[in-house]
Amino acid sequence: MSKELSLKEVGKMLMEAQSLVLCFHVSPDGDALGSSVGLARFLKQQGKNVKVFVDDVVNDFYKFLPDVAIIQRPVLDEIHEADLLVVLDASSRDRIGIVGDCVKAKAILNIDHHISNTKFADYLYLDANAAATGEIMCELFEEMQWKMDKAIATLFYTAIVMDCGTFKFSCTSAKTMRMAANLLEAGVDPSDIAEVIDTQSRASMELLAKVLPSLSFAHGGKVGYLAIPNSLYNKSIHTDNFVNYARYIEGVDVAFMVKEVEPGVIRVSLRSTKAVDVSIVAAGFGGGGHMRAAGCTINAPLDEAIKQVLDALGKVL
Ligand code: 5GP
Ligand code: MN
Repeated sequence: MSKELSLKEVGKMLMEAQSLVLCFHVSPDGDALGSSVGLARFLKQQGKNVKVFVDDVVNDFYKFLPDVAIIQRPVLDEIHEADLLVVLDASSRDRIGIVGDCVKAKAILNIDHHISNTKFADYLYLDANAAATGEIMCELFEEMQWKMDKAIATLFYTAIVMDCGTFKFSCTSAKTMRMAANLLEAGVDPSDIAEVIDTQSRASMELLAKVLPSLSFAHGGKVGYLAIPNSLYNKSIHTDNFVNYARYIEGVDVAFMVKEVEPGVIRVSLRSTKAVDVSIVAAGFGGGGHMRAAGCTINAPLDEAIKQVLDALGKVL
């Protein structure tokens, strides 16, 4: 069980630490990267010793982010000591991979917005109503009256827009918009960021063309899904947006995409409209996430995994 902190207490704890390791979930997305690298940049500006770790590769899609090169991939036999390990945008210890084993910190602080948070850290700031961890970062900066430069604002803005579908998803609140407005005042140009995040690589579009024929429907058209078999899977190609091609279809309440990342290892991405809480479905497979966006891993052949997800969805629809 974690001790839950106020934002002020989070700010104080960050300021009191001299050496910090920041980390976030594997398969990092814009929110994990933007919120963590933005906070790291600020803490470095305060003269602190800061490392940023992820137990994964960072997709080239994110190379436009300022300071992204600060991110390191830890190796198991190298132990890093720190005053504080800060785990951002990750709801459970397994989501940070080996980072938990490579860092010996005096305390672990978790800053998160997943409803499925397991309260694994010593200290926790959880706001399941925040659209993104980046939104929590903006509130923290406001609360502590910390100054952000344009690079930090760009990182937090990317975090927010990528987790709330550029203000389209239901997690978008008035506060989300207010925090985004602060970032515009700090120098962010939303059209510059939209341009980079809406631009897909040719390889990604070519893969999409091969994946779209797999589009299928079940449960009377309420479920739409796509599949990437291992023969088409390529870790370096960005596919995070593919699931939306199954979601935004008339009559579809739940969409999912299965990716066979290794033969027999299936990553599942679930998305839903207001009707269904997919975090519960993902939790049933040991995963988690948000009500309308969740994920899990299933160890089974691709067809069998699809069948298992469809069965689980049948129970909640
Ligand atoms: P995505 O489908 O984009 O990978 O993930 C959607 C949401 O679910 C994200 O907020 C992500 O952090 C969360 N999520 C995805 N996979 C897992 C998982 O295996 N475990 C947990 N706890 N959360 C997950
Ligand atoms: Mn997030």
